[in-house]
Amino acid sequence: MGRGTGPSMGLMNDLGSKACEAWLSEHGEGLPWGQVVAHPCPNGWELRHVADAGRDAAGLQALPPGALREWADTADDGLFRPLKSAPTLRRGWRCLVSSHDDLELALGGVYPGGLGDWWAVRTGQGGPTSFREFMGRQTGVYRGVRGLADEAARAVVRACCHAGSCIKDRRWAVEGMVDGEPGGHGSIPCLEPCALVLEAARTMARMASAERTSVALSGEDLAVLRAALERASALRPPPGTREAELSAPDNPRRMKLLLEWLGPEWARPAASPQE
Ligand code: SF4
Repeated sequence: MGRGTGPSMGLMNDLGSKACEAWLSEHGEGLPWGQVVAHPCPNGWELRHVADAGRDAAGLQALPPGALREWADTADDGLFRPLKSAPTLRRGWRCLVSSHDDLELALGGVYPGGLGDWWAVRTGQGGPTSFREFMGRQTGVYRGVRGLADEAARAVVRACCHAGSCIKDRRWAVEGMVDGEPGGHGSIPCLEPCALVLEAARTMARMASAERTSVALSGEDLAVLRAALERASALRPPPGTREAELSAPDNPRRMKLLLEWLGPEWARPAASPQE
């Protein structure tokens, strides 16, 4: 496969071939695709983890394109990755792609649907679905998300779509979102809320309607609780807690939701106390 020329394309449809050519012309020289980077090599292109770009090939495990899906299933700590666009792709591999079929297989293994979404946006054949439209379609156990208030919906996005949680470029929005809210990073477009955001929205809807209790705490105590939540919400889930299990109190994403629910000013230390 050479740059700008199609390989033996017997099995490829025209759309796939054009998408691969366009992808290679844009990303084939080292522009990151999430946590993946591609460079030309004598027999095609070599894909690697972006953090391994400068490493000696001999120190990396050679994976065939079809093996990347399984590779991407688990993080370094052995936990299943329910969100394939989480910035937790394992390092230590390289993958030679020598045809467009290989390229589609490899990219689809690491970021399922990413190439198709990127191509759809690029060619005007697809665009984002708004949060409200997406949630309005939900039924069954997710029915409760239909009535989620905009403020709570924005809190879900802040908790889930920030760069520390996902490498995708969120193209959809919640009414009232402002520039600079999470999302809007990277090459891979996110065209509608993912399953994790749907689950987070369901959890937030439950939080909003749950019975309240009150505990008497000093401002200092609240600041301690906030600091503990901020620290724990930045960690990986502890052993035995699944990343997508948002009902688990020790799930970092659940803690992040609580922090967003409580708002930015909750338990901030008082500024400049008077002497
Ligand atoms: S909805 Fe948010 S967390 Fe989910 S894939 Fe899109 S940007 Fe990432």
